[in-house]
Amino acid sequence: GFQVLGRPGPSGADPSANLGGLASKWCGPPSQLGGLGFQVSADPPLRNWAAWASKWCGPPLATARPVLLSGLGPPSQLGGLGFQSGVDPPRNWAAWASKWSGPLAAGRRVGRRLAFHVRNKLFEGIIVQDIAFFDSANTGDLTSRLSYDSNAMVAPCQTMLSSTLQNLLALVGGLFMCFWTSWKLSMLAFTTILPITYITARYAKWSSQLNRQIFTALGEANTVAQEALGHIRTVRAFSTEEIEVEKYTTHTHDALRKGIRDALGGAGTFALNNYLDLGGAVLILWYGGLQVMDGHLTVGKLIQFQLYFNMMQSSYKALQNVVTSFTRAAGAATRVLSLMDSLPDIDSTSGSQLTKPMAACITLEEVRFCYQMRRDHEVLKGISLNIAAGTTCALVGRSGGGKSTLIHLLLRYYDPSSGRILIDGTDLTSLELASVHRQMGLVAQETQMFAKTVFENICYGYSEDEVTREQVEAATRKANAHDFIAAFPDGYETLVGERGVRLSGGQKQRIAIARAFLRAPRLLLLDEATSALDSESEALVQLALDELLGSENRTVVLVAHRLSTVVDAHKIAVLDGGVVVEEGTHEMLLKLGASSDEGDGGGEKKGVYASLVKRQLAKQANLIEDA
Ligand code: ADP
Repeated sequence: GFQVLGRPGPSGADPSANLGGLASKWCGPPSQLGGLGFQVSADPPLRNWAAWASKWCGPPLATARPVLLSGLGPPSQLGGLGFQSGVDPPRNWAAWASKWSGPLAAGRRVGRRLAFHVRNKLFEGIIVQDIAFFDSANTGDLTSRLSYDSNAMVAPCQTMLSSTLQNLLALVGGLFMCFWTSWKLSMLAFTTILPITYITARYAKWSSQLNRQIFTALGEANTVAQEALGHIRTVRAFSTEEIEVEKYTTHTHDALRKGIRDALGGAGTFALNNYLDLGGAVLILWYGGLQVMDGHLTVGKLIQFQLYFNMMQSSYKALQNVVTSFTRAAGAATRVLSLMDSLPDIDSTSGSQLTKPMAACITLEEVRFCYQMRRDHEVLKGISLNIAAGTTCALVGRSGGGKSTLIHLLLRYYDPSSGRILIDGTDLTSLELASVHRQMGLVAQETQMFAKTVFENICYGYSEDEVTREQVEAATRKANAHDFIAAFPDGYETLVGERGVRLSGGQKQRIAIARAFLRAPRLLLLDEATSALDSESEALVQLALDELLGSENRTVVLVAHRLSTVVDAHKIAVLDGGVVVEEGTHEMLLKLGASSDEGDGGGEKKGVYASLVKRQLAKQANLIEDA
């Protein structure tokens, strides 16, 4: 081999001196050094420990090397060599392209923008999903997709897109130069590219699946963390910190195990590919050497070919890395895109807008409904009910009878499985939901608060210029909330904490009532809180509710647990087992109870309301006796 290289080159330069200069300038490509070492010292490649070690350096080098090669190594070298072998340096466009930093900045910018859009689109996609979707989804997994998955999905773009154009140019340039220098050598050298491509593609596919599992495990860990931290008081009260940590670690450990498997697989693929590289180099030098000896090729051309081939190969590998990381990112992308693509059944943006104030006459026609999570259990079994505009209808009945479900259907959290809900004679499903909600108010069983100030919580849903401080104060006064808010050191600017933890149950309810006053809805839906409040707080909430129900001429549908709220309702509907069993005013229903007590033997179950009242009165009497 030494003799071969010792022959003077066609350009007249001494090739061995050229080699020395080349080696001293070129500290990058180990395979190249290995190849040269083989030729110069006739050492078998495996005993060249430096080259051997470099093959085993694993992924950091795997990524560093192509970048080094495509960014710094060969092109500058090519310039020098090009000069020696007669190629004009300024015309070496591949080297010029690879030095150009334009694509780098552009790629990073594209990557950042992509991350921005993916995250926003994903959040947009999630927040419009049906409530039924949220019944089965878990928040930890969703937030995990927003943070980890969307990041992982665009990561290759951010890091690799920048070098793709550069590598693509170097690849095409290198390929062309290789064939131009010696097509026979090119054909031979490319035989190693095929197995490398196959191995890398297999690894990429396997790694993509593994990474999808890693993201799922991280999502599960996130769910545990979010639940535990969100319910930290319960965790502390039951001293379950260790159990929660264990649960969390199980999932992160799962992710770690799979991550390590991926790393090992990556390192193995990398090593295998490097040996194939080495094989390629050996083939080139063997066949090239023969060609030189036969006089078909000059030494200069052989070295030139070797360098072009290396340049092309490293660009090819860098591109392959891009493809691999994209395939891996595909795991995350599936989880992100499946959410983005799934359209909600209830489209809140379509339908005709309600522009005028509605009278809010509610009609339910044979409404049937079951939750998606429990399809075998029909909650509402054909409810027909008329609620005249401006009247109050109280829904009463045993727990689990479907009262809250009915309120959910009026809010269109869900659509009935059959039957219709009409508002002023128009099917709720044909109205634009946001325009209906603008005229609706809700006081739910549990007031949901945002980790913002009291003021912002009351104005939730309004922009800053839509409501004045006076309007908010007027609403809180009517809701019996002004005094306690004003007593806070920061008044209306008091931060309520996550989910309103810094407020008591009664205070939160009065804030919800203040929200309803501020909104002045045409239709008020009220799901009375079941959790017991202390008697003072209860009296204040009751007063606020009386004020809310008594004011203005609005339609109210309320789920009542307290007799006092029910008695004044224009209509009481008793729900039992998913059907309306009794309907009428307080007096009418009590009379119904009395007649069934007399035992008319009609067989039909009557007097449900009367017995509810009796039970409630007995409970109150007990309370008084206990006191
Ligand atoms: P009520 O308000 O009269 O106490 P609900 O309307 O809350 O009754 O509940 C009626 C039935 O529907 C209950 O059996 C309850 O378990 C079930 N249910 C309520 N919400 C859901 C849900 N999101 N998914 C599945 N089943 C539900």
